[in-house]
Amino acid sequence: MNNTTGVIFNIKKYALHDGPGIRTTVFFKGCPLNCWWCHNPEGLNPKPECIQGITWNYSSPNSQHDTIGRVVTDEDVLTEIKRDWIFYEQSNGGITISGGEPLMQPEFLSSLLKKCKLSIEASTTLDTSGYASWDTIEMVKEDVDLFLYDIKLINNNEHRKYTGVSNTQIINNIETLDNQTHNIIIRFPVIPGITDTPSNINQLCKWLQERSTINEIHLLPYHNIAKAKYYKLGLDYQLEDLETPSVEKLNVISSRFKEIGFKVKIGG
Ligand code: SF4
Repeated sequence: MNNTTGVIFNIKKYALHDGPGIRTTVFFKGCPLNCWWCHNPEGLNPKPECIQGITWNYSSPNSQHDTIGRVVTDEDVLTEIKRDWIFYEQSNGGITISGGEPLMQPEFLSSLLKKCKLSIEASTTLDTSGYASWDTIEMVKEDVDLFLYDIKLINNNEHRKYTGVSNTQIINNIETLDNQTHNIIIRFPVIPGITDTPSNINQLCKWLQERSTINEIHLLPYHNIAKAKYYKLGLDYQLEDLETPSVEKLNVISSRFKEIGFKVKIGG
């Protein structure tokens, strides 16, 4: 199989919140969305960025350097993954591809997933916004054991306002995956006053009840730890004064999803 190249901005080892077991998470660079609460703003731009004076504390060859992101081959990534593979295997963990939006680099993603399967029989998880053509999803779906699929806002106008894009393609894609019985866990960012409104929760519950096979949702509470990164990147941070949702609030939302029969986890 030929090597393909792509752009990543981090490889996180011993990850505990990106799927089952202990995992290696590979962060692809580039995302077509621009969510107000994104905690990886360094993953938005699809190209490596040279930013003077910034030190990113990543466990990658670029740490202590002022370049965010690097061009790599799938073989480069596989070599890094293999170094610690024994730990992941023993915990029933595997590989998670996150970002940014991995589906923005379909050939690289497809090739890396296939090599992970062929070379180390890794269990594979794709953390995605679902914003891609169906052809792109079709290209990779058989090599994905678990989709961690973000659903943020059901109302399309609200979705456009807070993420910059329509949710039509996102919803169509997940409904098709669900009908094909792929393994999917919903990830729902709990953003006070934006996604946690009664209206959005009610619409989301109604939509979830119509799904065939999806029965689990993870609530991802808002936090502002990425704020400093926005300033360093020269980007506006739109949620300046927003506070993390309280435990009580998260429990109320959690109960709502449990009432409709969903397994709920708070956190990734
Ligand atoms: S989809 Fe994810 S990576 Fe992309 S902007 Fe939204 S939160 Fe950030």
